[in-house]
Amino acid sequence: MAAEHNPKVGFVSLGCPKALVDSERILTQLRSDGYQISGTYEDADVVVVNTCGFIDSARAESLEAIGEALDANGKVIVTGCLGVQESEIRQIHPSVLSVTGPQQYEAVVSAVHQYAPFEREYDPYTDLVPKPGAGIKLTPRHYAYLKISEGCNHKCTFCIIPSMRGKLVSRPIGDVMSEAEGLVRAGVKELLVIAQDTSAYGVDIKYRMDFWGGRPLKTRMLELCQALGSLGVWVRLHYVYPYPHVDEVIPLMAEGKILPYLDVPLQHGSPRILKAMKRPAAAGNTLERIRRWREICPELTIRSTFIVGFPGETEEDFEELLAFLEEAQLDRVGCFKYSDVEGARANALEGHVDEDTKAERLERFMDLQAEISRSRLSAKVGTRQQVLVDARDGDVAIARSSADAPEIDGLVHIQNAGDLQPGAFAEVQVLASDDHDLTARLAD
Ligand code: SF4
Repeated sequence: MAAEHNPKVGFVSLGCPKALVDSERILTQLRSDGYQISGTYEDADVVVVNTCGFIDSARAESLEAIGEALDANGKVIVTGCLGVQESEIRQIHPSVLSVTGPQQYEAVVSAVHQYAPFEREYDPYTDLVPKPGAGIKLTPRHYAYLKISEGCNHKCTFCIIPSMRGKLVSRPIGDVMSEAEGLVRAGVKELLVIAQDTSAYGVDIKYRMDFWGGRPLKTRMLELCQALGSLGVWVRLHYVYPYPHVDEVIPLMAEGKILPYLDVPLQHGSPRILKAMKRPAAAGNTLERIRRWREICPELTIRSTFIVGFPGETEEDFEELLAFLEEAQLDRVGCFKYSDVEGARANALEGHVDEDTKAERLERFMDLQAEISRSRLSAKVGTRQQVLVDARDGDVAIARSSADAPEIDGLVHIQNAGDLQPGAFAEVQVLASDDHDLTARLAD
């Protein structure tokens, strides 16, 4: 087969699901150009490192990955969020071949062509070309991330994403739906909708009308959720800010059209700190909104992330955050200690909190939330749930329920799972819970 002689590309993908989607696009393009993807550095003709530059630890990890790839292979192309700081990368790793920022798919692909050229012309009739819509997914075949927009119009003071990724640019709804349909045709059972700010979808193009399957549709969150909900697969929403119009999508969850799951990055519970953070939707009454959502859809799972020790956070602000947590009763929560990010405006704020206090607050936060998460999880014992199987471990099938996003939430371990295979849906009876996961058996 001709493909055996084609150049091989090694690929390292770091960072968030959005970066993962970028990696998938680059890989899809390279495969359609006839490249092979190598599982090792040594075997590759060139290595692409898709970096993350969001927080200092991610930058360090990215720089380390570039160094490793250089040591093992020597020919390294760098892309992704850290790529916007080319001079910093070149100072540490002067021998990298090329550096580009996020979403510069074309530039990455042409750098690969330049540094790992074909010895002969690529022949589309003999070489492996993925079918349109099939993509090369880094995620298991049965779930896929669906990126609906790039960039962000907000100016959160701790974040440099808008300066790295630019202002909000929404993909027309027809494009997004065609990609979603292609993924479902290729066997995907769960679509994970991502963007920097999913609720802002379409704002930049004034909710412009587009077409999907000959049907006019506005490029807007509600219409997108309705259309995705008609595809017959799980649809999970990430990075949703609690704007009033989000209320309109909750009935779709109650009706079983999309998963009753919202990933809402709230970051804090004190209005004063939220203001200092310049968070979107900070002024709205989030607790009241959550209460209303749960009234419409009682089985709704809410995941969120928070930052403790933001500059200026007093003990009083922190206690307000704990009271917020107590009241909000969120299902899944991640929490980070604030740390400066080069280029972020929060660095210059007064009242930086010392490391011991940050660590102590993180611990108090996590202790309280662990209790809340544990008790919400234990309330599921005895219930019946639909789950999607991710993997097998002997007799046990490892699955997720509507409450569990891949990689960040919990798992459902199904005992004596028979011949259930990854990608299959199953009905289970929950037998037990621990801090994160559920144990279940197949339902009668
Ligand atoms: S909403 Fe805020 S935290 Fe999220 S990407 Fe935009 S600026 Fe950054």
